[in-house]
Amino acid sequence: MPRTSQSPPRREHAIVIGGGVAGLLHAHVLSRHFDRVTLLERDQVQERPSPRAGAPQGHHIHVLLTLGYRLLTRQFPEFDALLEQHGAPRFDWIRDTRWYLAGGWIQRGESGFISRLASRPLFEWAIRECVASRGRVEMRSGVAVTGLRADPNGRVRGVEARPHGAPPHEPLDERALAADLVVDASGRGSKIEDWLAALGLPCAPTVEVNAHLGYATRIYKRPPDDGRDWTVLYITGSPPGLPRAGAISPIEGDRWIATLVGYNRDYPPTDEAGFLEFARGLAVPDIFHALQGAEPLGPIRGYRRTGNRLRRFEALPRWPGGLMCTGDAACTLNPVYGQGMTNAARAAATLDAFLADPRHRRRALDGPTCAAFQKQLARSNQAAFALATADDFRWPDTEGTPPRGIGLAHRYMDRVFKGTHRDFEVTRRLFAVVHFLSQPTALLHPRVLRGGRRGAPPQPG
Ligand SMILES: Cc1cc2nc3c(=O)[nH]c(=O)nc-3n(C[C@H](O)[C@H](O)[C@H](O)COP(=O)(O)OP(=O)(O)OC[C@H]3O[C@@H](n4cnc5c(N)ncnc54)[C@H](O)[C@@H]3O)c2cc1C
Repeated sequence: MPRTSQSPPRREHAIVIGGGVAGLLHAHVLSRHFDRVTLLERDQVQERPSPRAGAPQGHHIHVLLTLGYRLLTRQFPEFDALLEQHGAPRFDWIRDTRWYLAGGWIQRGESGFISRLASRPLFEWAIRECVASRGRVEMRSGVAVTGLRADPNGRVRGVEARPHGAPPHEPLDERALAADLVVDASGRGSKIEDWLAALGLPCAPTVEVNAHLGYATRIYKRPPDDGRDWTVLYITGSPPGLPRAGAISPIEGDRWIATLVGYNRDYPPTDEAGFLEFARGLAVPDIFHALQGAEPLGPIRGYRRTGNRLRRFEALPRWPGGLMCTGDAACTLNPVYGQGMTNAARAAATLDAFLADPRHRRRALDGPTCAAFQKQLARSNQAAFALATADDFRWPDTEGTPPRGIGLAHRYMDRVFKGTHRDFEVTRRLFAVVHFLSQPTALLHPRVLRGGRRGAPPQPG
């Protein structure tokens, strides 16, 4: 049938670069709007949940914020049951977390802020299972994308790729590499700047904030419950003098994952004695005491690529048709606030709404349309970036330009933190903001200004 000016543009094939959490979620969303979707992942993805070279953060603690959990369970009704079957505990974020924050323990109680506790490989595996079971995304692993293909007008028409890792390799044919839309979800190490430069486009302005935070993580056998009153234990540092923090969380397989972090280049050691000594030096020694009798199940692993980076594509004068960039490739956040997977789920939801919007559905995915998506994505990324970086500016060695009024914001947040020691309502509001369930203005509340309500109920024993 001849195409008229009224007929919707062709949406035959979309390619997603990168099979991490963002890539999987975006591929799933695209499968609702395109006839075919191909996901190209450089690693050889294993059938069972396991850390892999392309996602080295998989060795470290990964929490799923309440909004992320809600978005994922809404998207995939079986997601929760999959995690349950694999032994990932369900928990209430405030009732079950013992958190030492700003010199005191937060007030706890039933909050309804629910999520599951699992390793990053299990979270990613469960999402992959959900996407794969729908049969609408072709997943190709062991394929490294090396560049973008464009037509003479600079519109992206597909990717260049080569096999990666051990043979045998499936042949890469035209059908897999030519596309009406390419979505870059290749993570923190994305080559998007080089790829844009090859199309004759300038570098996007980039905002970077680096608190020089280091991680060290070890997995332990979960010790028998000897009357512990917590499921998750967090100890936060106190700027500017005490840059050390840590957490213990249960994960599948009846294990604990214990992570220590240090700001300001106070990196936690990866040898046994140094690791425990670092834990002892936290604001309170509870993690040290908990780990003392616990049986380690593997080595201590370090990680230091933790800076925040926001690529401001929306500020470019021109953006190519047929291309979008999302997930960590567009916005990388200091991982200590646990936002990355949830932010990827928010970005996928933004793409879904964008493509379903009648104003965009009838338009070709040309430069202005793809730029409009980057602009929408920038709004939600900027909110996450502001949350993730605000506290980083409390540390003296943090690199980056603090936003105006940050000192005032810190003083206000000090009140919030102190309020959590006495008032469950203040704790609840703080969690709601951190979990993207409320706007930060939810913290502008008389209870916070009074430093919490006196006589608030004590912590459950
Ligand atoms: C130490 C650490 C702890 C973290 N803790 C948390 C946490 O508690 N909670 C949370 O929500 N988030 C956390 N994050 C962030 C989280 O891991 C990511 O933000 C989230 O998974 C989204 O990442 P992504 O899919 O965009 O990128 P990635 O997970 O990096 O995935 C990118 C994928 O692209 C592939 N790839 C790269 N280049 C190519 C190419 N050229 N061709 C084909 N494939 C390619 C890679 O192999 C990889 O699989 C943490 C991160 C770190 C570093």
